[in-house]
Amino acid sequence: MSIDTERFRVALLEERARVERAIANLRDDHPGTLDEEVEEIAGSSDNHLAETATATLDREIDFTLEENSGQVLSDIDAALKRIDEGTYGTCVNCGKPIAEERLEAYPWGSLCIDDARLAERR
Ligand SMILES: [Zn+2]
Repeated sequence: MSIDTERFRVALLEERARVERAIANLRDDHPGTLDEEVEEIAGSSDNHLAETATATLDREIDFTLEENSGQVLSDIDAALKRIDEGTYGTCVNCGKPIAEERLEAYPWGSLCIDDARLAERR
């Protein structure tokens, strides 16, 4: 039984657009530097320390998100390339087929469940 790669191609392209929008939103939300933002909040609030901490934490979360989004984007591009090459749905590590329900959850996944578990343990 072969995988319907066209269906996954559509899912990947949709996910790619969604991630790109998320990255664009992150940049729009924070045009200034962190220093400017902290100053603004500190100058306009009675609760300086807590507000400053919150702004810093938010920024750190955003940075993490942006990093992960970049990673997901390259994973998606790699998966689209594998569709073109006809290797989509096989593990890049061992060549075994990736379970279809795994691809449903993570269409950009490149590892079979066994290799994914090994990678997580590293
Ligand atoms: Zn594998």
